Amino acid sequence: MSISTVAVIGAGQMGSGIAQVAAASGMTVILGDASYELAERGLSKIRKGLARSVEKGRLSPETSEATLSRIRLAGELSAAGDADMAIEAVVEAVDVKLRVMEQLDSIMKPESIIASNTSSISITQLAAATRRPDKVIGMHFFNPVPVMKLVEIIVGYWTSTETQEAARSLAEKFGKTPVLVKDSPGFVANRLLIPMINEAVYCLMENTASKEDIDRVACLGMNHPMGPLALADLIGLDVCLAIMEVLYESFGDPKYRPCPLLKKMVEAGCLGRKTGRGFYDYQGTGES
Ligand code: NAD
Repeated sequence: MSISTVAVIGAGQMGSGIAQVAAASGMTVILGDASYELAERGLSKIRKGLARSVEKGRLSPETSEATLSRIRLAGELSAAGDADMAIEAVVEAVDVKLRVMEQLDSIMKPESIIASNTSSISITQLAAATRRPDKVIGMHFFNPVPVMKLVEIIVGYWTSTETQEAARSLAEKFGKTPVLVKDSPGFVANRLLIPMINEAVYCLMENTASKEDIDRVACLGMNHPMGPLALADLIGLDVCLAIMEVLYESFGDPKYRPCPLLKKMVEAGCLGRKTGRGFYDYQGTGES
């Protein structure tokens, strides 16, 4: 099936990035969120990102304009009915995602594919909320989407070979490198990354070292481009906690117990860059 129109549902940090790379690849994009205003917020993020690339001379003003012109905003899911494929990037909460899958299934053409950008929720479970489980797949992008090259393609129990091929070639069209992964909790990337971040939060909670030094250890001792606490701020502490909870519940292994400090910070609304405050303070830096 040829894919020329993609609906991206959820215009937060990931959804806006996915919409940007899809539009940059020449696709028509419908960017939807729970309201038109939220979708507009996503578009303004894209506009800012493209403007920065133009300023730095990495993109021509014409290409930036052409990318923006391919994005149409929507305040309700029904607008996704025209799309050949939907990629959902709403909050990492099972009940919300199941509802979105159900809604997309009821409005999309029977041959359309529904992909989820979930970080950890079972694709098989999400697919079961639809009448087309063979056309449901995970496309796990990385943050920031316009920069990061990897897409984990998550194959659910019922996902067909045709759907896998369509997702793989779409990822390539977006300029990404796809890897095929089985539907297992946390997939590969987050099974490696999030327990490391959780452990770094334990180190901080137990005063093993300062937050700066914990990050320095990863950067200078392991050659990571960013320390785990700074990375948690970029990902969003709520997202990190939600993934850790999925790992803990799915494997039933105490080694995945979310750190109490991570839980406390999420309760306090310190979610990282997106709220201006996480392990580090971004207020007034223009980075949030
Ligand atoms: P975010 O909070 O920035 O954005 C979520 C968006 O979903 C918000 O704009 C919200 O208004 C919207 N939304 C919520 N309910 C909705 C509904 N019913 N219908 C339409 N829109 C709705 O979160 P994010 O960081 O962009 O994460 C989105 C998804 O991507 C999650 O599943 C997350 O696990 C996954 N993910 C995140 C990262 C990361 O680094 N943040 C990386 C890979 C994957």
